[in-house]
Amino acid sequence: MYNPASKKAEEFINHEEITETLSYAEKNKRNVELIDAILEKARERKGLSHREAAVLLDCDIEEKNQEMFALAEQIKKDFYGNRIVLFAPLYLSNYCINGCTYCPYHLKNKHIARKKLTQADIEREVIALQDIGHKRLAIESGEDPKMNPIEYILESIETIYGIKHKNGAIRRVNVNIAATTVENYRKLRNAGIGTYILFQETYHKESYLQLHPSGPKHDYDYHTEAMDRAMEGGIDDVGLGVLFGLDKYRYEFTGLLMHAEHLEAVFGVGPHTISVPRLCPADDIDVADFSNALADDIFEKLVACIRISVPYTGMIVSTRESQKSRERVLHLGISQISGGSRTSVGGYSEPEPAYENSAQFDVSDTRSLDEVIHWLMEMEYIPSFCTACYREGRTGDRFMSLCKSGKILNCCHPNALMTLQEYLSDYASPETKELGEKLIAKELKRIPREKTREITEKNLELIAKGEGRDFRF
Ligand code: SAM
Repeated sequence: MYNPASKKAEEFINHEEITETLSYAEKNKRNVELIDAILEKARERKGLSHREAAVLLDCDIEEKNQEMFALAEQIKKDFYGNRIVLFAPLYLSNYCINGCTYCPYHLKNKHIARKKLTQADIEREVIALQDIGHKRLAIESGEDPKMNPIEYILESIETIYGIKHKNGAIRRVNVNIAATTVENYRKLRNAGIGTYILFQETYHKESYLQLHPSGPKHDYDYHTEAMDRAMEGGIDDVGLGVLFGLDKYRYEFTGLLMHAEHLEAVFGVGPHTISVPRLCPADDIDVADFSNALADDIFEKLVACIRISVPYTGMIVSTRESQKSRERVLHLGISQISGGSRTSVGGYSEPEPAYENSAQFDVSDTRSLDEVIHWLMEMEYIPSFCTACYREGRTGDRFMSLCKSGKILNCCHPNALMTLQEYLSDYASPETKELGEKLIAKELKRIPREKTREITEKNLELIAKGEGRDFRF
């Protein structure tokens, strides 16, 4: 039954294959010879199969685990360097007709404040986001065909791209909306979206059906096959994820990798990103009702094992995680984070009064974007607002080949520095600006190609003088 190239959910995410994989991993979790062979393969940076990866995830030999962490860190450095891309979620509407038991947007929640942004509200939100320095958004919405039809989402995207306030611009809009039709995905592609993100929530079908008791999201197959439809609709970059805490992490990890293998088998390109959200407290949601909470040390290991298994896939961690928790995983493979996020509808332009709550979950990392940027640079990461790849048509397999060729030091690295300079010149606090300029001076020297270095230097000067913006390789 298991067939990664099949278009049927139950064949490419095959329950029997997952349970066999988990017992294979359990049996081999102390098999040093096998673990060494898997680590050797992982060192070639070509990725691992879900079976191999599951053995590493289960392994409880301290010394081998340390090797895994070191390898994850090395792979992250080789492919993504010390750059961390920044984005912010923008909640458009929390009207929803689904019954997801872990999400406060669920239809039966009568005390959450229901809100939907008008195009004028969106303009205010985007200006507020531009004014703190964001260039890349992920739009989020509940599923409600009447309140949030595709036309509303498309109109919102157009509004967002159209707003130019001072030096601000949103240059990439990623979209996280419910599973939809090939036709609608094509419309999203034509609207110029970056990545289409959809979390599987859980790959375990039985749990999925219980956790999504009503509404269109109840259809496990339709949801699981959504990425295929997105790619058929012409979207090259898709983002996977599960909501950790809903079911057993070993099952989810195997499912995630099988999903990546499936996309690779059918479309010749794996997911652009993998997100690793953990369940958070929220209005009407008590995390104590969910028994599969993921411990911090397992969370770290998951990130490391994903990094090793799919080296070319970006990894995202949001403000669901605290500063401390983000520090623990950044170096193990995370390439994108959100900062200064508001999960309430309209929360960037107007803080919500205490008696109203439209938020999707309680944010753990509540720092401002400037604080996040400062913190990243203190740890010697380069905060990047780069959106060049997709604007230069480097999506799907073209992005993957850039990543595989190792040419990113002549491309992503200078782009990161130039977009950081824009942030420093336009939005940073004096302390962040000072720290950032020192970092840029140091990092400039690491651009290998002389010509590229010269052009970057010239552009950095123009940005600092206010004479140019939006340079990119
Ligand atoms: N409605 C769309 C869908 O069905 O995919 C958009 C997704 S929603 C705005 C974004 C994600 O938030 C969900 O996919 C879910 O994984 C996550 N989420 C929901 N409730 C959450 C909670 N209590 N804690 C953390 N994340 C949550």
